[in-house]
Amino acid sequence: MELPYAEPYKIKVVESIRKSTRREREDWIKKAGYNLFRLPSEQVFIDLLTDSGTGAMSDNQWAEIMRGDESYAGSKSYFKLHEVIKDLLGMPYFLPTHQGRAAENVLFSALIKKDDIVPGNSHFDTTKGHIEFRNASAFDCTIDEAFDTTGIHPFKGNIDLQKLEEVFKKYPEEKIPLCIITVTCNTSGGQPVSMKNIKEVSALCKKYGIKLIFDAARFAENAYFIKTREKGYENKSIGEIVKQMFSYVDGATMSSKKDAIVNIGGFIALRDEELFNKASVYNIMFEGYLTYGGMAGRDMAALAEGLIEGTDFQYLESRIGQVEYLGKKLKEFNIPIQEPIGGHAVFVDAKRFMLNLPREHFQAQTLAVELYKEGGVRGVEIGTLLADRDPITRKNRYPDLELLRLAIPRRVYTNNHMDYVATCLANIYERRGELKTGYKIVKEAPIMRHFTVELEKV
Ligand SMILES: *Cc1c(COP(=O)(O)O)cnc(C)c1O
Repeated sequence: MELPYAEPYKIKVVESIRKSTRREREDWIKKAGYNLFRLPSEQVFIDLLTDSGTGAMSDNQWAEIMRGDESYAGSKSYFKLHEVIKDLLGMPYFLPTHQGRAAENVLFSALIKKDDIVPGNSHFDTTKGHIEFRNASAFDCTIDEAFDTTGIHPFKGNIDLQKLEEVFKKYPEEKIPLCIITVTCNTSGGQPVSMKNIKEVSALCKKYGIKLIFDAARFAENAYFIKTREKGYENKSIGEIVKQMFSYVDGATMSSKKDAIVNIGGFIALRDEELFNKASVYNIMFEGYLTYGGMAGRDMAALAEGLIEGTDFQYLESRIGQVEYLGKKLKEFNIPIQEPIGGHAVFVDAKRFMLNLPREHFQAQTLAVELYKEGGVRGVEIGTLLADRDPITRKNRYPDLELLRLAIPRRVYTNNHMDYVATCLANIYERRGELKTGYKIVKEAPIMRHFTVELEKV
């Protein structure tokens, strides 16, 4: 028999979490205005709100916290991190930042101006925010297959080369400061981008003289999918695949809270000295001096170790294996999910789940609240609440997909926790016919309403 995967670590420290009663949860969620963002974490049993900054650091990372050098300039921990980034990504220049969006802020300050166009595969919301804040536009060139939740395609994060070339032909070179590939593509469900696609996008960008940048938050999970799904890479190491991926781009912004398994941190990696010099000015202005940029020395040291651990094959196999484990459990219960299952989260298709609930009652949010009431599990709505209102008509925008995202923190929960989550959803699925009424808005902010919105039962 072939041996199954098992986590390449054992547990040294544990943190207690407590089950509550349904009565307590019904009371708490009502007080929170039926908005899961407003719940104190102590009222949550299993927290699948996000995989960002929620991972468990290793003993070696905690040791690095003690070894961190807090010198303002030229910290030992800075040089350690620089060596790891050079080794792993093959990028000679780097700037530390306090998280991913800060890296975007610094790099885009150096690159993007008013009326520019930034094409890419479904840009992450902070990325899009930082582009639009500069009165520029993000153009989504993801392949059409990404928007069909049932169609099977191994690399749904891929960029459609034809769509991209149309943008390059339509606008002059000086209006397109960069093209962004997000690996894996968070917005389309943690879906990977193939090496072939990265290589072809890179060639097209070179042909038109456009810079290519990775939004690299989940670059290691992307490399794992290339190894396991793309022909010709099955015998390459994750390290070799990562190096090759980065060889096709001019730089990257990184949220270290994802694949680098730290609780805070980010960086910019660059190939070109001139761009590094330009970005350095903004880094000093917005983040901090070049050798710490918004991070404590100890945090840079833990990040250097996290990058090494986060690109270990056995770790990635168990990490992505756990996400797949939950997805497969849900499928066994016939619960409709987005396929193929992504790298960091399972997305439940609330539109197909809800038999009798009108969309005006917020299908995915209703499912998220039901899941919390059922077992104290916190997921997040990716649907109408998130899509906000049309800025002109002020009517609710109804997106094509109503999803409940269950994001799995790294090295935090066991597969027993996954079984528990799946059973909660199976119980709700059994009585889904009875879910005929949902929620209505009583209070909302003019933008980004999902974080603070207050709801009540219809
Ligand atoms: C999380 C994330 C960001 C932003 O990073 P923060 O560390 O949250 O500021 C940018 N892009 C992608 C793809 C992300 O997942």
